[in-house]
Amino acid sequence: MKALTFQGEGDVKVMDVPKPSIAGSRDVLVRVTLGAVCGSDLHILHGHTPMNPGAVLGHEFVGVVDDVGPEVARFKPGDRVVSSFFTACGHCALCRKGWFNQCVDKGTFGHGEYFGGLGGGQAEYVVVPNADSTMEPIPDGMDDEQAIFVGDILSTGFFGAERAEIRPGDVVAVVGAGPVGLLATMSAQLFGPARTFVIDMVDSRLEIAQELGGIPINAKQTHPVEAIERATGGIGADSSIECVGLLSAVDTAIHAVRGGGTISMVGVPSAVGGEFPYMRMWLKSLTFRAGWCNVQKYMRPLLDLIAAGRLHPEKIISHRMKLDDAEEAYRIFDAREATKIVLSP
Ligand code: NAD
Ligand code: ZN
Repeated sequence: MKALTFQGEGDVKVMDVPKPSIAGSRDVLVRVTLGAVCGSDLHILHGHTPMNPGAVLGHEFVGVVDDVGPEVARFKPGDRVVSSFFTACGHCALCRKGWFNQCVDKGTFGHGEYFGGLGGGQAEYVVVPNADSTMEPIPDGMDDEQAIFVGDILSTGFFGAERAEIRPGDVVAVVGAGPVGLLATMSAQLFGPARTFVIDMVDSRLEIAQELGGIPINAKQTHPVEAIERATGGIGADSSIECVGLLSAVDTAIHAVRGGGTISMVGVPSAVGGEFPYMRMWLKSLTFRAGWCNVQKYMRPLLDLIAAGRLHPEKIISHRMKLDDAEEAYRIFDAREATKIVLSP
């Protein structure tokens, strides 16, 4: 089958690889109908997330069930499904506490042998282990493009917004207007903020942020913390959602909030080091939350919100490309010439 593989830092290639088949009794084989390229794939591309050469990329995908193991209860061949970007067993102590991303038996799709050795969704087929607690059926009448993002970036945007503790009338600062920041902006609106400032340096992304209810701030032209202070009588935002994963963005997210405020970080800090500002956090009585999304908890409610017409995640798609052109897709996404790319096999 055709698949996009990692070859080394800065190098990905579409290749012919063996078609996977189910091995475990809780596995499902999915024929991928749509995959997507994510900011987390760029961490791999740049060598900040380790990956073994030859491994198949892609952790955002939807498809049709092709084959099921004997212990799979929720799915049968022909079902349309969306997968979380990671697997969870559903019955360990942490899954039972509702923290599926802390599952003792988890694996991440498209991240190679260091993250569980699973296949990837930028391919024609992918095996989903522990399928009953990893996938959701796609509601009838919902397009692949509407459903795909509940498996990662819409859940992540919502998770970021929920953990920012936004109350009606609040001022929110979203740092980063990449796909995650845009879907955090979209999700934040469900919590009733009065104003949502969105900070980035790419005008095409800030334009989409504005369409989604955000107030754009181009950090190349205006100091974002000063702009938010000016707009809030010198106080700052009630909360911030960090959607980049760079030290400069974490710094903006911390400095943009008022005393007593909340910072919610979802950007992957794959290259962030340095001192944490303990004294500033303490003096301003700030709450700092960070983490990768507990996707399994959010897939069902977000599919319901999409089905009800209250969320339109497909609005952020800028490019629809073929899997054959995935190398070019990575190039233009990395160059920020594309906002969100979906790939069809
Ligand atoms: P992306 O790289 O497309 O977007 C990042 C955006 O941040 C870009 O538009 C860039 O111009 C902007 N930016 C860079 N520095 C900035 C700064 N100092 N201030 C403001 N904006 C700045 O990536 P994405 O797909 O939107 O993902 C964003 C981050 O979220 C990545 O780190 C990704 O790995 C992470 N992520 C986390 C989870 C999770 O579960 N927590 C899930 C998916 C993605
Ligand atoms: Zn992702």
